[in-house]
Amino acid sequence: MDTNTSALRRPGPVPDGILHRDPDGGRTHTAPQTPAPPHASSRKPRRRRRLFRFVVTLTVLATLGAGTTAAVITAAVTARPDYPGTVTAGGGDGSASARSGGTPTAEDGYLADGDSVALSDAVPAVANLDPGLREALGQALAAAEEDGLELRVASGWRSKAYQAWLLRDAVRTYGSEAEAARWVGTPETSLHVKGQAVDIGPYDSADWLNRHGAQFGLCRTYDNEAWHFELSPSAIDQGCPPMYRDPTEDPRMRG
Ligand SMILES: [Zn+2]
Repeated sequence: MDTNTSALRRPGPVPDGILHRDPDGGRTHTAPQTPAPPHASSRKPRRRRRLFRFVVTLTVLATLGAGTTAAVITAAVTARPDYPGTVTAGGGDGSASARSGGTPTAEDGYLADGDSVALSDAVPAVANLDPGLREALGQALAAAEEDGLELRVASGWRSKAYQAWLLRDAVRTYGSEAEAARWVGTPETSLHVKGQAVDIGPYDSADWLNRHGAQFGLCRTYDNEAWHFELSPSAIDQGCPPMYRDPTEDPRMRG
């Protein structure tokens, strides 16, 4: 459901120099317009990216042609060895370590600060994203590449246990659950846990997506998070809705 029509949405200025924390994550940024650029060291061979683009294109063509064929091809994509451990979008319990209160792992969708993965990488952070969001990102990625930019995933799907770990860390940082809740979503409210949000890097790519994302149904949600995008299909015809100033204005975060 697109809840972006809320009258609560309005952009607002964010003072520079304030530490910002992804409400659904734990990333800290020193300024709202300068998310740390992820490392570019884990680029994948072009062959894999070409294959990924080909498969995405196939899926799109099939969707246009016949629903049944699309379902079959989508199922084939989901079962590709590139996406080991793929489950229903937003699913996945995460690692035993995180579920027992320990450190999250890649199985939880964990990516270290400053790290990022390609949309075609075989990791749960990408594989467990909502298929519609992943498809839109694939289309945007292809267009961004033509402009010489690569859209990379700095944070994608997260297990509930990973989100709980981030929240506990935020409580330590901010001193209270109430204050932490202003910056970090809970396992129940986080759109990342649902597989419906993605943090894009590096900055130039996030900026590109901010300017061109609407045509793919991809929109920024929060004025204070230049990197956080969600799927908003109505944006293709109507443009992106106004952003919330920050997550405290987002009624979905109060669940
Ligand atoms: Zn985010």
